[in-house]
Amino acid sequence: MRVQFFGRVWKNLAYTVPKLTDYSAEALGRASAELIAALELETQKLLADDKRAIPSDAEWKLRWEEWKKFRDGWIGRKSGVLTQINELWLKSAPKDAKRAAGQLVNDLRKTVQEEVSRAEATLMRWEGDDQREASEASARSFTTIEEALIAVEGVDITLPGVQRPIGAEHPVIKTMHEIVSVFQKLGYSVAEGPVVETDYYNFEALNFPPNHPARDTQDTLVIAGQQSKPQRERLLLRTHTSPVQIRTMEKMRPPLRIVIPGTVHRNDPPDASHSPMFHQVEGLAVDTNITFGDLKGTLDHAMKALFGSSVKTHFRPSFFPFTEPSAEMYVSCFICGGGGKRGAEPCRPCKQTGWIEILGCGMVDPNVFEFVTDNGYDPKKVSGFAFGMGADRIALLKYGVDDIQLFFQGDVRFLQQWG
Ligand SMILES: [Zn+2]
Repeated sequence: MRVQFFGRVWKNLAYTVPKLTDYSAEALGRASAELIAALELETQKLLADDKRAIPSDAEWKLRWEEWKKFRDGWIGRKSGVLTQINELWLKSAPKDAKRAAGQLVNDLRKTVQEEVSRAEATLMRWEGDDQREASEASARSFTTIEEALIAVEGVDITLPGVQRPIGAEHPVIKTMHEIVSVFQKLGYSVAEGPVVETDYYNFEALNFPPNHPARDTQDTLVIAGQQSKPQRERLLLRTHTSPVQIRTMEKMRPPLRIVIPGTVHRNDPPDASHSPMFHQVEGLAVDTNITFGDLKGTLDHAMKALFGSSVKTHFRPSFFPFTEPSAEMYVSCFICGGGGKRGAEPCRPCKQTGWIEILGCGMVDPNVFEFVTDNGYDPKKVSGFAFGMGADRIALLKYGVDDIQLFFQGDVRFLQQWG
């Protein structure tokens, strides 16, 4: 241990700058040699090193105090050796010896400063080595690698980390993305519109007659305080994504192919298969010579892309105000394979019929085009088809979920299944 070394009291410099009376070259050389010898002796004492045992922080503090005394003794401005030789050897020199004395003092200043710097650099290097050794030695004394890392790095890697669960797409959003993606691959663009809509876009421009039951507040959620406005300007929560068809046709001339995902609202009390808020994906294609054959081919392809190439589709006549003719499309049950039974049990999703109603569709009613004739949708020149499906219902079927409320309750345990 170097404790003994550090324990000794540093004495004032043994060297005292003598007054010079003789400025001969020989006398100057002797004075210079004595000074350098004293400097080397002091440096040796300062840097005395007994096997480099590891000193404590307190011991290093003491060592640096000794260093300061050494430094101030030699280069301190007030009374350091360099200041003294300037006073006693140079300023006191007779005129004819000034030059030689000046040269000597300059040389000595350089030597002393270099030696002081060298000593400081040596001490700093040793201190750095000691600190590294100390932390490594303490790391070695731990029994496990973890403890050693804690000591060296200050990080306890055995503590549990901050858990940041990876998010996942909600099953309904995931389903919507899948449906949209099928149509994007067919060249359709995505269109969106406002959820708070006017009566005009939600009903009137879609050919709903004034007293259609959907316009009743029994079925539609309306914004309060609209009674003073004309009917067509009254605000409501859109009951379907179809207003986006009109909004897009007002902005873009035919030909047009769009797919419209979005949330819609109806005044339905929540139960296992109804929710006042749900999701639709709707589509519209307008061009010259679009036929019902195009509609059937497009939707048959889309259903095979969504539910597998073995599903069959069929269409049954239906009615919607904004399409004529209209149809409901069914796909063969992708749960029971169309047989209506799962083993001995009846297949509930298809109610044992082997078919599942999946969407509504039809050829765009010419009356709808009349609202956007000015933008190139002349019903005598263009035709089109439209379709719409409930994304929530498809997600229920696809993932075998039996209650639509599960999608909106936000229970992480339920949603984690898609993580
Ligand atoms: Zn079935």
